[in-house]
Amino acid sequence: MYKSIVIGTGPAGLTAAIYLARANLNPLVIEGPQPGGQLTTTTEVENFPGFVDGIMGTDLMDSMRKQAERFGAEFRSGWVTKVDLSKRPFTLVIDEVGELSTETIIISTGASAKYLGIPGESENVGRGVSTCATCDGFFFRNKKVIVVGGGDSALEEANFLTRFASEVRIVHRRDELRASKIMQDRSKSNEKINWSLNVTPLEVVAGPMGVTGLKVRNNETGQEELLETDGIFIAIGHIPNTKFLEGQVDTNEIGYVQVKPGTSETNIPGVFACGDVQDDKYRQAITSAGSGCMAALDCERFLENHEL
Ligand code: NAP
Repeated sequence: MYKSIVIGTGPAGLTAAIYLARANLNPLVIEGPQPGGQLTTTTEVENFPGFVDGIMGTDLMDSMRKQAERFGAEFRSGWVTKVDLSKRPFTLVIDEVGELSTETIIISTGASAKYLGIPGESENVGRGVSTCATCDGFFFRNKKVIVVGGGDSALEEANFLTRFASEVRIVHRRDELRASKIMQDRSKSNEKINWSLNVTPLEVVAGPMGVTGLKVRNNETGQEELLETDGIFIAIGHIPNTKFLEGQVDTNEIGYVQVKPGTSETNIPGVFACGDVQDDKYRQAITSAGSGCMAALDCERFLENHEL
């Protein structure tokens, strides 16, 4: 039986693992299908304190993992399919690993990219539809691409894609962008970026070789238009990865795990949550790491007072 199992290896899970390992609790860390989490799909991280010239997302996550390992954290790859949180010790069923039991759990499974849910979208994922510019941008050298969304992610992806694409068009459903001013300024001054604001995406159009266009409707005039493109990058936010919890932990109305204010405690004693799976507001690498530290400290204190 483990003292603590950390599920997820983004900045939250890895920070929790570093703290737990340094406290001699020998945590087991379960690495899911995207080791390192969302930061491994970004390019340079410019706002993580301590890195004057920025750091690549993958390098930051590699360092955090090595740091956790250095203090004794154990890593296993697998997909948590089931948990039983009805009594301690808790049990987890993990693909490729089997059933494990643990005194405490730290949930840091993050969030996954949202899709538009329009016709032609799901069947063309990997054929021109993508949610990751860093992963797929390279395939669009000298081609036309569209980025859907008006937040920081969309603008960041659009700027990154200008390195490869001949034209990048941002398609957003409102006149106003949600992104921060610095990202807006950077994007507006980028000559390769064009804008289709106040339009609703209706359908992904594709041929035998993949995506050829995005059908949109102008929200003001109601007029429909086909925007020709070779690729469509969807950057409209995320949904928390909580399916495996099967409703055993309280969540808010949009599915994020609910923690008691100022703590990482869920409604189940011994189960803690950190990172994007419980944060629909800040969603930054640094806040995520900070919440991972809180979860480890809460977990340590819990174990001191609730020995099995
Ligand atoms: P976000 O801020 O929630 O923005 C999502 C965007 O997608 C919004 O513009 C939204 O439109 C649009 N959208 C949502 N659902 C849609 C739908 N069904 N159809 C069409 N458009 C839709 O998400 P995000 O950009 O992923 O950013 C998440 C958080 O991470 C933010 O706090 C952001 O600041 C942060 N972030 C920071 C950086 C950085 O600092 N370098 C980089 C990336 C992300 P509306 O505006 O109309 O709602």
